[in-house]
Amino acid sequence: MWNTPAPGYSLVARVTVRRCNPGDAPELGLVFRCDRTSPGAIVEGIGYTKHIALMLPPNGHSGRDVTDATRPWLDSMIDDPYVELRRAMVDAQIRRRGIADERVLAAMENVPRHEFVPPQYKSKAYQDEPLPIGGGQTISQPYIAAAMTAALRLGGRETVLEIGTGCGYQAAVLSLLAQKVFTVEWRAELARGAEENLQRLGFRNVQVGCGDGSLGLAEFAPYGAILVAAAAPALPAPLLEQLDEGGRMIAPVGREEHQHLLLVTKTGSTWSTEKRDSCRFVPLLGQHGWKPWELL
Ligand code: SAH
Repeated sequence: MWNTPAPGYSLVARVTVRRCNPGDAPELGLVFRCDRTSPGAIVEGIGYTKHIALMLPPNGHSGRDVTDATRPWLDSMIDDPYVELRRAMVDAQIRRRGIADERVLAAMENVPRHEFVPPQYKSKAYQDEPLPIGGGQTISQPYIAAAMTAALRLGGRETVLEIGTGCGYQAAVLSLLAQKVFTVEWRAELARGAEENLQRLGFRNVQVGCGDGSLGLAEFAPYGAILVAAAAPALPAPLLEQLDEGGRMIAPVGREEHQHLLLVTKTGSTWSTEKRDSCRFVPLLGQHGWKPWELL
């Protein structure tokens, strides 16, 4: 059905819009036919499918909103030569390693990682490794990004805080699974680059800030989920305080050269901690992170 376009159309993208409003069947999506002569324009809806090719931010969309709000994103999906590489990445590196949450897998399949890395690393964007993003920092290995995202068990309505924006990739993944993402980056140059990436690709429900994320972001607290993307010597107290009742936080905690992901669940004013994958992140600097003189 999908590979036989009607006369006059070229089927260049299968776009599945998953509505994440309460009561929607989670696997149900509306598929649109797109026309190559006006990339990004949705020509007509052609049916329902279980296959999720593109998942929109879950803050409710009418058909019309879809074209307006996601044009840059659709443009990047149409003619995207990396679609197959991304699908293979999700299968081999993520699904096969035990991550089964379909929403997380769909998000990973739909964020163009190659658009976030420096041009010289585009060809490596879907490999099983972290990559340099400038300023001595790295974008996490895809599996780690997926494992951290899955651990947060996002339902679609949360306000999420990310510490350590880097190039903005992880924030983009989170933005497909939550209502709103605030992300804080220490380095101004990276924050600017991430903001530019997210704008260009149409991730509109992400707000990038620059500063010491070890202090959290009290202004918009509490958060349903917090993801710390840099290694902390201990769980930063302000982040625990800014976590909502029932909220979850995932953070790499440990020594400078080796950490474990800790999953924190807050209940009332206390929290429980569960040790997950071992990992190696760049250090979290700042008041509740490492001090420059403590680092090797
Ligand atoms: N999530 C990112 C990768 C993060 S790398 C992505 O998807 O690309 C870790 C980032 O944390 C680095 O960019 C580093 O500059 C930043 N960082 C370190 N200490 C920080 C702090 N106190 N507040 C905010 N960001 C910090």
